[in-house]
Amino acid sequence: MKILLAHHFGMCFGVRDALAQAENLAQRAPLTILGELVHNPIVRERLRAQGVAEASLDDPSGIGLPPMKHGLEAPATPTRVMITAHGASERKRAAWNAAGFEVVDGTCPLVRHAHGELKQLVRAGYFPVVIGRAGHVEVRGLTEDFSDAVVVDVPSDLLKLPRRDRYGVISQTTQPIQHVELMLRELRSLYPEAEVKFSDTVCKPTKNRQDALEELISQAELIVVVGGRESNNTRQLAATCRKAGRRTFHIERPDELRFADFAEIEVVGLTAGTSTLRETVEAVRTRLEEIAAGQLNQPAKRQPASVPVAP
Ligand code: SF4
Repeated sequence: MKILLAHHFGMCFGVRDALAQAENLAQRAPLTILGELVHNPIVRERLRAQGVAEASLDDPSGIGLPPMKHGLEAPATPTRVMITAHGASERKRAAWNAAGFEVVDGTCPLVRHAHGELKQLVRAGYFPVVIGRAGHVEVRGLTEDFSDAVVVDVPSDLLKLPRRDRYGVISQTTQPIQHVELMLRELRSLYPEAEVKFSDTVCKPTKNRQDALEELISQAELIVVVGGRESNNTRQLAATCRKAGRRTFHIERPDELRFADFAEIEVVGLTAGTSTLRETVEAVRTRLEEIAAGQLNQPAKRQPASVPVAP
């Protein structure tokens, strides 16, 4: 079995920098991350091992503060909290500062760019539309400062848009660009009279990973996608593979791969989401190499699905 690694895969600079920032800060004083630094269990375990805590974005002190709209109460001891690479709204930042937290900003510059683009569109009189997953932390951060902003994920969501003459559209940074382009075409055909101004905020690392995946899809029979099950961009990579008709395994750890799943496979592709550590991808590659070696040793008789190859 041949193993092909995508030309672009795994942790992006935005996540890598935020992780390094959190680890440096944690060495000096207690640190609490607002939400999950990344939606990846291995990275979160690594941070927990260094004493880094996590808190709810709506309740950083974890003592049952009232919801945001009523304002936050100052905790007895100001706590250092960190905004993740996903960013946060101005409204939330102001509330955290007012509540006495020392706020450290780990927002990725490309997410900050998306915030700036939406702000400019609104200032120019466009109705704010964000293509992305409603409720995702980045999307919440992008939209919370604009009470009328609408989040659209699939074409049918466009029907909930109020009639406007001008729509200003941006995208969650990790959306596949083909999906974003489809949504724009649908929006324009649904409201042909309206002006639609689009600012492309899909980030370059996401585009690179999606492009590299297209190449893998053209070469491999089965694709292994490594990353957190809650990671939006990892899920998008896996969805792209499935849509292209490829057998796809979305895994978090190497021990999820079983020998029998690769019985007839000659070419396997390997990629990973933007929150996946390089060492996790390396461990998965090693596991695939063990499986490939096992195939050579047992050409006639396959192992049953429940029996994993010894590491
Ligand atoms: Fe930044 Fe893109 Fe990475 Fe998000 S996925 S942290 S926007 S580089």
